[in-house]
Amino acid sequence: MLSLVALLAVIGIVLWAGLQAHPPEPPEDSLRIPWWVLAMAFAATEVWVFHIQVGRESKSISISEIPFMLAFFYSLPEDLLIARVVGPALVILLYRRQTLLKSGFNMALIFADTTVALLVFRVIGGGSTADGAREWTGAVLACVAAMAVDLIVLSIVIRWYDGKPPVSGVRSLASGLGLAAASALIGLVPLVTLRGGAEHAAVPLIASGVMLMFGYRAYASLSDRHSSLEQLFSFSRELSVAPETDDVLPSVLAQARELLRGERAEVLRFGDPAVTVWRFDGTQVSTLDADLANDCGEAARALLQETDAVLVRGDDSAGRHYLRLSGADEAVLAPLSYDGQTVGAIAVHDRLGEVRGFSASDVQLLQTIASHASVALHNEMLIGRLRHDALHDTLTGLPNRAQLTAKANLALADLRMGAGTMALMIMDLNGFKVVNDTLGHHVGDDLLRQVASRLTSAAPRGVTVARLGGDEFAVLMTAQATEKPEEIALGLLESLEETFVVEEERLHLSGAAGIALAPDHGRSVSDLLKRADIAMYAAKNGAEPCVVYRSDIDLNDASLLSLMGELREAISAGEVDIEVEPLIDLSRNRIVSTEALVRWHHPVRGTLRPSLFLPLAERNGLIVPLTTLVLDRAVAACASWREAGLDIGISVNLSARSLLDTMLPQTVADALDRWGLPSNRLTLEITETIVLSDADRALGLLADLRRLGVRLSLDDFGTGYSSLTHLSELPIQQLKIDRSFVSQVQDSPRDRAIVGAVADLARNLDLEVVAEGIEKASTAALLHDLGCQVGQGHFFAESMAPELLPLWVQTRDPGWTPSGPPRGHLLRVVR
Ligand code: C2E
Ligand code: CA
Ligand code: CA
Repeated sequence: MLSLVALLAVIGIVLWAGLQAHPPEPPEDSLRIPWWVLAMAFAATEVWVFHIQVGRESKSISISEIPFMLAFFYSLPEDLLIARVVGPALVILLYRRQTLLKSGFNMALIFADTTVALLVFRVIGGGSTADGAREWTGAVLACVAAMAVDLIVLSIVIRWYDGKPPVSGVRSLASGLGLAAASALIGLVPLVTLRGGAEHAAVPLIASGVMLMFGYRAYASLSDRHSSLEQLFSFSRELSVAPETDDVLPSVLAQARELLRGERAEVLRFGDPAVTVWRFDGTQVSTLDADLANDCGEAARALLQETDAVLVRGDDSAGRHYLRLSGADEAVLAPLSYDGQTVGAIAVHDRLGEVRGFSASDVQLLQTIASHASVALHNEMLIGRLRHDALHDTLTGLPNRAQLTAKANLALADLRMGAGTMALMIMDLNGFKVVNDTLGHHVGDDLLRQVASRLTSAAPRGVTVARLGGDEFAVLMTAQATEKPEEIALGLLESLEETFVVEEERLHLSGAAGIALAPDHGRSVSDLLKRADIAMYAAKNGAEPCVVYRSDIDLNDASLLSLMGELREAISAGEVDIEVEPLIDLSRNRIVSTEALVRWHHPVRGTLRPSLFLPLAERNGLIVPLTTLVLDRAVAACASWREAGLDIGISVNLSARSLLDTMLPQTVADALDRWGLPSNRLTLEITETIVLSDADRALGLLADLRRLGVRLSLDDFGTGYSSLTHLSELPIQQLKIDRSFVSQVQDSPRDRAIVGAVADLARNLDLEVVAEGIEKASTAALLHDLGCQVGQGHFFAESMAPELLPLWVQTRDPGWTPSGPPRGHLLRVVR
């Protein structure tokens, strides 16, 4: 900066010296303006400055042309120079109180531009102060030259500070010079009046008026474009941080309207077959009526054929047609493209309250907005679809468990506000499994779709039918439903009585339903579903097709004792067994391990899931024999697969109670010995609660297990309380991210972030990361991207009998064949 000041000063001095070498004749006119009057005039122009907006700063330029013009003709060059430096110096130092450096810079600049102006006047004007076209031209050009020096030096300085060229440097230079010329022409007015009579003054006056007008317009559009650019940047920043919110569309509309200063903005989506048009008029977003939207869409498409954004002014029939349909006089239209396809358009109609209509730069601006918005809008539409998937069952299109839970929660909230009743029902189809097994899955799927449509048409108002999975449906009945829950349930069951026809097979179905009422049977959705499930099992095993929950059918109550007694016998009678669920290496898409899940094949109640009887077993000390049994079956299964050439691992779940069992390491060692399985093929899954309950003891036992060579895994990670840092203290080799995160990972950015962070941390701790409960291919892919190496869930397979696993592997991966003698044995079991 200092060197620039010095440079300017040197330029000024050199030029001044050059001028002094050939001094001009003194002004012959009797009128001679003393230097101090000029100084005051220059001081005045310095106070009254003209601001231009460049970058983030506003720069001011003084319009000193009028005193300049007079001084050329009515004063000595040295008076002009002194006045030109002293006048502004007083203002800068006393009135503006600028810093020393800034004052120095401004003074040097003024010094330099004055000497340049004098030089130009001398060279072009010929050094005389006589009147005539040559002198006047010289004077005007001298003023322009001074302004050019100012602007060029200023833009160099700004470039230095901002590290980038000032916005449209050339345009701002042009408009600044135009302005200087215009004010110089104004300065000519008193001159011409003084010398040639008032009538001649009209010429420079009109000329300067015209130039000022153009100058203003150029400046106005320049500053417009500049603030538009800034807004555009913040707009795209906004879109990039919030690409998943519902307000992408309103934000695009508002920004397009504001940036182009239009009366209205519209987003058109060229759907197939219908076009949707959202319109924003400054107060609200509305959609156009379907017919009009289609017509507008067609007209817009015609205008956008193979072009980028266009300015529609109605000078051809296509343009007029579009303007008539959209009720506008003028419009800018830009295509929204995605993957090279035009998927819609953005339009802005009629410039707001300005004489100036849209210009080419508005077209360019809308094009830019459109390309930023395309991606964001596309994402939103994609997310809309994912959201639909997340809330609906893919097979039947019915609401799924997530949506049912959300709706039930809303109903529960209403209930708490004192509004009406609410009931949940679970319904299971009798005989569906037989259909599926004998006639095949496609018949089963078709049947489920028919069941779904019968149930939805039979459901009265205020009733939501959802599919929970398999042949299990749930029904939410809210206060709006006029009939009693049992009546509704019976109506739904009745709708299934009529024969179904699937691929020419006539099929008969019936259902069993259980109902739980809020708030009597529970205040949370999960409690209500649990109780409805219990009631449904009672219905299956009883004479009534529909049972409302009662405490006497609940295992927690009356039949609890008997079931506990039964469990003890069931373990010894072989009713308790395991099923296995495959664990898949997500990068190679191959099975690497399995998880053993306990099942109780109850002679009356059917196959019972662990959630039903594990709590009993834990309370009753039965967990030790149960774990022993599961371990034995699991190790046996794993050893037999290994013998068949399928060398994979198996995981066994441990209850918190099991870790209080000091005999556990021995039990594990015995099982491994008995079946001859290498210990590293066995993984034991523990949960965080284990560690919390009796940390020292549990940690000691875990260390013993590790010494045996078995692997340890932390199950259901994310549901407990332990922090991530806690992980490093556990002797584990694997981490299983809980299903609740996995199921939401696609539409919850929060869950995605958690899964990503957990996977990162686990990698740092050298832990294998397993994602459980994967139900969709897209989830599996995303989890792999997030860093999970292994996955399991219904997308890959539901749990199956261990003997079925080799066959499952073979169907999935025909390259693998069981080898060795046990092959025949395995296939025999399967058959
Ligand atoms: P877990 O260890 O988290 O096991 C996974 C559970 O999620 C299993 O339910 C499995 O069938 C189910 N599952 C797997 N993939 C999916 C999926 O994609 N979607 C859905 N919705 N569910 C999926 P299951 O067999 O009912 O087991 C429930 C829990 O019971 C297990 O949760 C585990 O904590 C416990 N458990 C199971 N077997 C044993 C055992 O032998 N001993 C002990 N102590 N606990 C066991
Ligand atoms: Ca588990
Ligand atoms: Ca789990």
